[in-house]
Amino acid sequence: MANNADYAAQAGEISSGFDEKGAGLIMTAFDMADKAHQGQLRMSGEPYITHSLEVAKILKEMKMDAVTIAAGFLHDVIEDTQYTVEDIKKIAGENTALLDEGVSHVTAKVFKTRGQIFSESLKKMFFAMAKDIRVIIIKLADRLHNMRTIRFLDEEKQKVISNETMNVYAPLAHRLGMEKVKSELEDISFAVLNQQAYREIAKKIAEKKEEREKRIESLKEVLGLELKKLNIPVEISGRPKHFYSIYQKMIRENKRFENIYDLIALRVITDTTNSCYTILGIIHNYWKPLPGRFKDYIAMPKSNMYQSLHTTVLDEAGRPVEIQIRTKDMDVIAEEGIAAHWNYKEERAFDKKTDSAFAWVRQLLDWHGSMRESEEFIKELKVDLFDEEVFVFTPKGEVKELIKGATVLDFAYSVHSDLGDKCIGAKVNGKWVTLKYELQNGDRIDILKGATQHPTVDWLKIAKTAKAKNRVRHWLRTNQNIKENIDKGTHLLNEMLAKKGVKPDDIPEDAWGGLIEQYSVKEKDDIFAGIGYGEFSDAKVANHIARFLKERREFVPGYEKAKHVTKGEIIVQDEFGDISYKFAKCCNPVPGDEITGIFTKKGISVHRKSCAMLASSNITTPIVDVSWNEKAENFYMCRLKVTGRNREHLVNDILTTIAKNNALISSFNSGVLYENLEADLAINIKGQKHLSELMTSIRKVKDVLTVERID
Ligand code: MN
Repeated sequence: MANNADYAAQAGEISSGFDEKGAGLIMTAFDMADKAHQGQLRMSGEPYITHSLEVAKILKEMKMDAVTIAAGFLHDVIEDTQYTVEDIKKIAGENTALLDEGVSHVTAKVFKTRGQIFSESLKKMFFAMAKDIRVIIIKLADRLHNMRTIRFLDEEKQKVISNETMNVYAPLAHRLGMEKVKSELEDISFAVLNQQAYREIAKKIAEKKEEREKRIESLKEVLGLELKKLNIPVEISGRPKHFYSIYQKMIRENKRFENIYDLIALRVITDTTNSCYTILGIIHNYWKPLPGRFKDYIAMPKSNMYQSLHTTVLDEAGRPVEIQIRTKDMDVIAEEGIAAHWNYKEERAFDKKTDSAFAWVRQLLDWHGSMRESEEFIKELKVDLFDEEVFVFTPKGEVKELIKGATVLDFAYSVHSDLGDKCIGAKVNGKWVTLKYELQNGDRIDILKGATQHPTVDWLKIAKTAKAKNRVRHWLRTNQNIKENIDKGTHLLNEMLAKKGVKPDDIPEDAWGGLIEQYSVKEKDDIFAGIGYGEFSDAKVANHIARFLKERREFVPGYEKAKHVTKGEIIVQDEFGDISYKFAKCCNPVPGDEITGIFTKKGISVHRKSCAMLASSNITTPIVDVSWNEKAENFYMCRLKVTGRNREHLVNDILTTIAKNNALISSFNSGVLYENLEADLAINIKGQKHLSELMTSIRKVKDVLTVERID
């Protein structure tokens, strides 16, 4: 067994290559970790310091800075020993202490729920809460070593931890572009979670080793010979894909191992981007490319900064071979991802045009040009990937995901509508705040109810989520009397009109006619009442009236606005009235969605305005103005994705809920992955309102995690 001197020697090895200050810090951290973990043992029976050493080694391999390596040595000190953040600060400096504090914060908040299935929200929260990206990288190094030594744990624990690794850590590594780490995490987890499949693949890979190596050699030879003529520097390597990715391919394409031919990927590494394209040309000239398999990630890098050319060609025997072509720099980024940037020896050109989730990294790289110290650079490297959402906790420790900017009121309504109606404020992390308090990541929120509290129109300004707004409106509509609503609405509208210089007495009766039709109400007072309980927007009604007055003033004889005619479920421009229409299958619009029409040979194709297909296609035919005929009562197809923690009867409960909501199911596909149920449904509903009610009901089914509408 190794003794203390050996461990110190290993630490010395890790500290080599750093300047005096950095090496000093690393050794100080090692000494402190050694002392702090004195007497503790790993499940393997080895002294605990071996774990700290291995984590530090992994971080060094990732080419992290000295502070991160020091923090790596000390990453379990706060959680597992008597030493505190203050102690680390005193001994190993403020920066090290900050990182370790981040690690233990994330561990305590995000990973305490171990044993539960990890939701997408939890994963995102991990990201959002780690203020410094190095915190995540330390957690990844920690997990990597824990996975490498997982066999020392009992079987049950191995499964739980592997599940967590598969669901949280591997995707995180992927997100950060750290493919090497991701593959290793996946393969170890795979071996635990599906021992039989793993063994089978491993056995078959081993059996075919010789054949595969021969094939790689011959491919290399042919390719090398062709490329030599060009005098372009190339390095060709080939290796089997990692086990889990082979397994995924077998599942995805429903194939047996024997029928998967592109088990190997050939990699061609060269000097410049230009050479990459030249090499691609030669390869396509020599071997027949498989149609539809070429991908240009150089022109269009992936969001995790991955750049490469991909193609699949058929070799002499007609077997497909996947080939990746990239420069040396691109290869480093492909393997190490974000960690590659700590080893920033030379300027690397990044495609600045590309917008992606990694825009923040690029931005920082730009700044980096003017910064000397990489220490300074990484200090600025904050994680801001999820700027659309905020993640908070209920008092029971459940995670809730809300839109950024959501308030205490939104949170209260997201828990229960009654809690929202009676909400007077909340205790956030132990402090009292008002309804307006904007939620921050990681907040623990305890709502305070008041017996006499009830919603008011002003709440519509505090609420940011549709759910909360709808509930407030609903309450006002059903609980305020009509007279109150009309008075309140008249008052609000008059205020709005005054801002536009319109006096209520100046409004002609026919101005109201259009509004009464538009809002499908019986009379003027219904519009006032609607404004009073928040159903209609005072600003929109005022705009409508102002526009009406303006158009009347500007009316020029001879000019006529496009007329619209009702045509079944939709209203179209008069000139298109004879043509048939259909709803686009790509986005399945339902009443309430904003829609647009595309003129096609077969008639008008109606899409959602937000349709992704529409946005990405080049439309050369006319766009037709269409809107919903609100009087038509029909069922419309739309698709939902539902995920949940799988259990007996879950599918049945979901289906029953749909039936109870009077929606018709036209297809239902589901599968279970790592104990999570994923279901794709096509259902027929009456419109958006019906849809949102249905989605709310499904969300309430026990163990359902997410419900979303998909294109
Ligand atoms: Mn650890």
